[in-house]
Amino acid sequence: MKPCLLEYSERQISDIIVPWGQPSFRGRQILEGLFSGKDFDGMSNLPAALKQRLNAEYTGAPVGIERKFESKDGTVKYLFKLADGELIEGVLMSYKYGKTLCISTQISCRMGCAFCASGADGLKRNLTASEMLGQVVSVNRDDGGGAERAVTNVVLMGSGEPLDNYDNVSKFLERISSPDTINISERNISVSTAGIPDKIISFADDGRRFNLTVSLHAPTDKKRSEIMPVNKAFGIDKVIAAARYYFDKTGRRVIFEYSMIDGFNDFEDDAAALASLLRAMPCHVNLIRLNAVAGKSLSPSRPEAVKAFLSILQNAGISSTLRRILGSDIEGACGQLRRRYKAENLKTEEREYEK
Ligand code: SF4
Repeated sequence: MKPCLLEYSERQISDIIVPWGQPSFRGRQILEGLFSGKDFDGMSNLPAALKQRLNAEYTGAPVGIERKFESKDGTVKYLFKLADGELIEGVLMSYKYGKTLCISTQISCRMGCAFCASGADGLKRNLTASEMLGQVVSVNRDDGGGAERAVTNVVLMGSGEPLDNYDNVSKFLERISSPDTINISERNISVSTAGIPDKIISFADDGRRFNLTVSLHAPTDKKRSEIMPVNKAFGIDKVIAAARYYFDKTGRRVIFEYSMIDGFNDFEDDAAALASLLRAMPCHVNLIRLNAVAGKSLSPSRPEAVKAFLSILQNAGISSTLRRILGSDIEGACGQLRRRYKAENLKTEEREYEK
């Protein structure tokens, strides 16, 4: 596969084209063109000979939009096609403060969480930094016309475990938050992990201040290992210690995600155990009623159980809220993304979502 210039800096692009006899300012023109969603041929300010050479040796747009599914609540699920024909998903959610794009970091996932559709097939491959950047660029162009930049916030919460693709994710984060690209603030970028302690520590030591979200989903090792196999390797205490280290190093309050599963992790004892686990920890807990996933037997907690759970946490002084579910009618909600599309069944899928 040809290298993709989307993950190169302006300086790196200039270093490539200056020996071709081009002025260095073309590096900026190319980078601006790529981040506004243009391919080389669409950059009208470049000479034809340069476009020809770029096309011969590099690619610029690694992600295309194959299909879009719109939810009743305004959430949009994108089906992206990669250069090798693989399909991945991203979800654009609208809030009062702006638009958040949830992107994928791997094709499927090897973490195997029991409540998640994305982990059902095992890891197929890591995404490159360009393929992650390409998801943002494609949506900006589609939703905001490129120049307008529709995406204000990015969450790495789609298919894949970001910290299991550490180097590519780090490069993506560096590029997306760089002043020479679209410069999304560290504050507006969240990395969501199933909890790999040594990678959380490395992430803290990298010296950046992105938001960290840890999927906890149970307050004890016994329960957590039942639904998150990764817990058998590390255990909750190490995950919490790594999250605390992240706060100490970055000053960013860690967010813990807790999917509430009927009759499994939604008892008052669980709430008390969670409050005790997180006591004195600067953090926030996001409760979310489990999103139903076809083929999985787990179901969402009853509203009364959620209410009681939340009030136990809050009475114990743990900052916590119940998160609104967006996009569930298009299988765009957390845990519902999966690589289920094949060219031959796309039409059927589309009809289903149109109902
Ligand atoms: S919840 Fe995240 S880490 Fe777990 S299987 Fe799904 S994508 Fe992977």
